[in-house]
Amino acid sequence: MTQTEERTPTTTDRSPGEHALADALAQLKFAVDLLGYGDGLHQLLASARRETRVSIPLRRDDGTMEVLTGYRVQHNFSRGPTKGGLRYSPDVSLDEVRALAMWMTWKCALLDVPYGGAKGGVTIDPRLYSKGELERVTRRYASELQPVLGPDKDIPAPDIGTDEQTMAWIMDTYSVNAGYTVPGVVTGKPVSIGGSLGRSTATSRGVAQVALAALQHVRVAPTAATAAVQGFGKVGASAAQFLADAGVRIVAVSDQYGAVHASNGLDVVRLHEHVAVTGTVLGFADAEPMDPDSLLTLDVDLLVPAAVEGVLNAANAADVRATVVVEGANGPTTAEADQILRGKGVLVVPDILANAGGVIVSYFEWVQGNQAYWWSVEEVEERLHQRMLAGWTAVVESSQQLGITLREAATVIAVQRVAEAHQIRGLYP
Ligand code: NAD
Repeated sequence: MTQTEERTPTTTDRSPGEHALADALAQLKFAVDLLGYGDGLHQLLASARRETRVSIPLRRDDGTMEVLTGYRVQHNFSRGPTKGGLRYSPDVSLDEVRALAMWMTWKCALLDVPYGGAKGGVTIDPRLYSKGELERVTRRYASELQPVLGPDKDIPAPDIGTDEQTMAWIMDTYSVNAGYTVPGVVTGKPVSIGGSLGRSTATSRGVAQVALAALQHVRVAPTAATAAVQGFGKVGASAAQFLADAGVRIVAVSDQYGAVHASNGLDVVRLHEHVAVTGTVLGFADAEPMDPDSLLTLDVDLLVPAAVEGVLNAANAADVRATVVVEGANGPTTAEADQILRGKGVLVVPDILANAGGVIVSYFEWVQGNQAYWWSVEEVEERLHQRMLAGWTAVVESSQQLGITLREAATVIAVQRVAEAHQIRGLYP
């Protein structure tokens, strides 16, 4: 039995993390088979290069102590240092982090960013902890991982439940331990300490750019299009804004508390203001509350899942009525749902392309930091736009040439680049 098979859960009642990993491995297997690679190379690509699990003892504000678990999976570093977000969520598991790290490898290779993939996670619900507690968790996590992090080793960035403040704490902890300031150990940090202009909205900007390209591909004008967006966080909120700016009517959005709907279109600027005050889209005056699950099956041109994994699955994919699905989140569509959507003729723009804007501008941030020379926001946004459209065009062309889906095409392009790096470097010893 190969290592790949051993790590693939066989039961039907998999956890979300096991599901995500099984899907990631199946996508890799498809690419390996199409490219005609042997078992050895397949195993190399399927295996994480390094997996670290740490205990994080936390002193709570009330004086009690608890122990959290942190992970960092560095999937592949054949093309450069590893890169990937850090997630704070009570549902984080090692398998989820493994899947997300593998997808990061393919995302970086697809967009020709000179990194491998990594991902980190801490099992914590950040809403239940004070800022001081979150700072202590972050500093302990960064300190435990210090030996495997660094601008030439592995570079975290924000993800679910973390933000630029989290990155600033990691940067400071790493720098204090190193004895000098190391801004390049993280990206997505505040502009005042070496962050890039345009980074905070880069993922959303990229999501909107490929969404508009995909709408054009199916011959729907932005001003005639309707959209529903699941998740109103760092990715979903600004993606909704950029799409609305392009003339798309955003008819529904949701967050973890619920969903709101307005068939004439939501005023996204005012919704932002409402969320800034209340912390949720619920209660927005100019919209009706709706069942959040129904948002995914609304009759819209564009559906943007921008929250968590596995939300489009065997249970609801047959009911999806959108023409185009653009994956703002990582892994929102399960393998079963992918098959169903394909059968229905729904165009699915895969996560490793659709949400790559974040890692592209993270790369720009790292380049600017290395040169200690910062670009204007216009330069950042222009270069981001070029890369997103180049990625979109390459994936569409390959999909058409090979007669495969956009996800399959994106994975094949990426896996081929990573495999080439392995083959040209050879095996040591
Ligand atoms: P975030 O924590 O800023 O926002 C997450 C949003 O999803 C919140 O509005 C939350 O309420 C909502 N949510 C959570 N569970 C939900 C559910 N079951 N139904 C509806 N909404 C739900 O996180 P983020 O950074 O916006 O990340 C969202 C997704 O995008 C993740 O899959 C992440 O890996 C991916 N992503 C993020 C970036 C980035 O730069 N932040 C880059 C690439 C991919």
